[in-house]
Amino acid sequence: MPLHILVVDDEEDVEHLFRQRFRKEVNDGKAALHFANSGLSALTQLEAVDKKDIIIILSDINMPGMSGLELLEKIKQLYPEKKVMMISAYGNEQYMNDAKVKGADDFLTKPVDFKLLKEKLLTEA
Ligand SMILES: [Mg+2]
Repeated sequence: MPLHILVVDDEEDVEHLFRQRFRKEVNDGKAALHFANSGLSALTQLEAVDKKDIIIILSDINMPGMSGLELLEKIKQLYPEKKVMMISAYGNEQYMNDAKVKGADDFLTKPVDFKLLKEKLLTEA
């Protein structure tokens, strides 16, 4: 079964980038990608019956409306079994500390190092 990953980011080109960089893993049936451009959209997708197999969420921190940190809190309340990895454009330690306190499972900085991300995701799984 592929590892189902939900990528949450308000930047439009992120979906294209992930689809490109995970093309091989998706084609090989190792990964399945889902996308949301806001925290609300992410929560709606997690509620959807056909998206129940999403087990890891990669979320941007800086988003209009619900921030990545608010989304993290909601996911950990509603779905404590799901893993959440936070992605921040800034090497902002305050954000990282807040995210750690709120239960984030891991962290990445932008621009995303896809080699590192795949090591984290696909060796763990
Ligand atoms: Mg953003």
